[in-house]
Amino acid sequence: MSFSDESFAKGKLTVVENYVYLCNGPSSKVYHRSENCKGLNRCSTQISKVLLTFAQNKGRRACKIEF
Ligand SMILES: [Zn+2]
Repeated sequence: MSFSDESFAKGKLTVVENYVYLCNGPSSKVYHRSENCKGLNRCSTQISKVLLTFAQNKGRRACKIEF
């Protein structure tokens, strides 16, 4: 993280950016930045919005399409 305290104080940044989307399917191994990602469109099960750190702790990798 390279954000300054000043940026936070002015409300330019929010913690919303730390959330990602997961497909709950058994073959899904990545997390997505956007809810509208092409990779998520193929998901046949529920989609979860979780913290980035939670997704990483579960062994998920970043989506190749977005990152
Ligand atoms: Zn994606």
